[in-house]
Amino acid sequence: MLYRELAETYEKLEATTKKLEKTEIVKDILLKSGNELRMVVYLLAGRVFPIWDKKETGVASNLMIKALSKSTGISEGTVTEIFRETGDLGKTAELLASKRKQKTLLTKTLTVREVFETIRKICYQEGSGSQERKLSLLARLLSFAEPLEARYIVRTVLEELRVGVAEGILRDAISLAFNVRPETVESAWFLNPDFGEIAELARKGEEALKNVGIKFGRPIMVLLAEKARSLEEALNAYENPAVEMKYDGARIIIEKDGDKIWLFTRRLENVTEQFPELVEYSKKCLPERCIVDGECIAVSESGRPLPFQVLSQRIQRKYGIDEVVKKIPVQMNLFDIIYLGDELLFETPFRKRRELLEKAVKTIPGKFQLAEHLRTKDLKKAEEFYRKSLELGEEGVMVKNLDAGYQPGRRVGYWLKVKPVMENLDLVIIGAEYGTGKRAGWFGSFILGCRDPDTGEFLECGMLGTGIKEKKTSDTDITFEELTELLKPLVVEEKDRTVRFKPKIVVEVAYEEIQKSPNYSSGFALRFPRFVRLRPDKSPEEADTIERISRLYESQRK
Ligand code: AMP
Repeated sequence: MLYRELAETYEKLEATTKKLEKTEIVKDILLKSGNELRMVVYLLAGRVFPIWDKKETGVASNLMIKALSKSTGISEGTVTEIFRETGDLGKTAELLASKRKQKTLLTKTLTVREVFETIRKICYQEGSGSQERKLSLLARLLSFAEPLEARYIVRTVLEELRVGVAEGILRDAISLAFNVRPETVESAWFLNPDFGEIAELARKGEEALKNVGIKFGRPIMVLLAEKARSLEEALNAYENPAVEMKYDGARIIIEKDGDKIWLFTRRLENVTEQFPELVEYSKKCLPERCIVDGECIAVSESGRPLPFQVLSQRIQRKYGIDEVVKKIPVQMNLFDIIYLGDELLFETPFRKRRELLEKAVKTIPGKFQLAEHLRTKDLKKAEEFYRKSLELGEEGVMVKNLDAGYQPGRRVGYWLKVKPVMENLDLVIIGAEYGTGKRAGWFGSFILGCRDPDTGEFLECGMLGTGIKEKKTSDTDITFEELTELLKPLVVEEKDRTVRFKPKIVVEVAYEEIQKSPNYSSGFALRFPRFVRLRPDKSPEEADTIERISRLYESQRK
């Protein structure tokens, strides 16, 4: 398949905001993509790997400017100038390619495969000299690109495609193209979050898709919780509830197949290497072949839970792991089992799963244990448990339906969380304004975005300035300077005093109220938003959605 066809598809996608039209456009290209189906699916989402593979191109705007200069023979200064005018390197590349076209005879028609493989190669370059190699791969690719192709190659490599295709549209387009039910596509995707593979299975038919199964060594999407307004409401939601301690750490799924162990976060990140002690415990304490689900927290020497920020140092650490293992001990609290022996337990009621978990796992108190669990519908007993949880320094409780199965990837009301505070939102920083006065030289206020799960776009829902410090007074503070440093490499557009970022940084935000607002693209505005903490454990795809904000808005009105 020619890359030109894909580029034309991108252009059509960009020209409409209507989801149905987008779905049709995607469906058409899926049907045409033949042997390149998997590549086309990844590329439509602006990627060259499945979502759980975190490899990146590692190309930022300055390297891109060099590549554009090299591929066109136009000086870096001029390229930068055009970039400044257009505010978009994709458009810059398009303009430059049309100028070059009139001059050179270099012609070669790019195929999807060629573009895909070159971008993958760019991702694989590591170590010394890798920037140079990335540069020459990119420059060569761009030198063959037609103007429209150049626009999208550049955006893909910068991981900035923005044609509004994410899970919702991919799911529906795959379903339409290959005549399979959207629910089947979705269930398969939760078990095997790889739309490339899902599309190939869907092409074989509904049955193949249904048999997708779990693959050890690959992450799955986990069951998600909903929020209850009170403990009483949560207890009343189920005929047979269980109350569990809610630990404030990182969700970790442990997969064990013989002597092989994998640990994945709910962001689908492989963190096996970061937690060697959990690998050891899993070898000793878990049955031969299983998948268990739980929350890992950092603990002090006396065993008290430490704030999430402490644990995040363990998650982010890639080198010198032994040292940090000693410095920051962790505790795994297992609360579910979803695979045992050769059996998938999604349909098994939680009551039974918990019993299996209790039987199957050898525990090491304080290190590798089961989440504390109490079966009761009695409000007094549940309140006592809740109080104990808070006194122990945990976050609150989870109320779970003992009769429910395990539904990966969804908030289906099987679990209800109860926490003492008003529910915070996890939002993405999509832009900022430069500060003035004391905040001069830094970004002084930040544009918050919530996610539209159909298009993958982020819609504005507030401006954040409160809660970020001018000076550091404690380890957990975050300053304007730090946030500015973190966001600078993500700038994709700059106009006057306002910049736009690649949506990467997720922050937890508290607020007083949600209001309707015509000024923001989401239609909602947070009143008095306040920074709570960075959420490096959450990907932008996991940020709160416009639907959730709309639901919260409605529930507020009640
Ligand atoms: P939240 O992140 O606020 O939506 O709360 C849901 C998260 O709480 C889950 O994804 C888990 O990471 C975490 N959690 C802590 N303790 C438990 C528990 N006992 N059962 C289920 N989830 C828990």
